[in-house]
Amino acid sequence: MKTMTCRQLGGPCEVEHHGASADDVIQAQDRHLKEAEKAGDATHQEARDAMKGRWRRPKKSLDWYRAMQKAFADLPEN
Ligand SMILES: [Zn+2]
Repeated sequence: MKTMTCRQLGGPCEVEHHGASADDVIQAQDRHLKEAEKAGDATHQEARDAMKGRWRRPKKSLDWYRAMQKAFADLPEN
């Protein structure tokens, strides 16, 4: 398992997501952003909108996914 924070995934806070793959932590971040939006947390809105845009335009977002996968690969196991 590895850990990436909300901030490492483009968000504003230090919540930690744990996963075995980059996809796991990206999905955890997506859930975290949805919950923040539902709770009316304005600090997460920009990251939430960016994530929504990525689901809509996956090809344009490949660079972001690759960067996240590389960041995840470079992390130590914990
Ligand atoms: Zn957050």
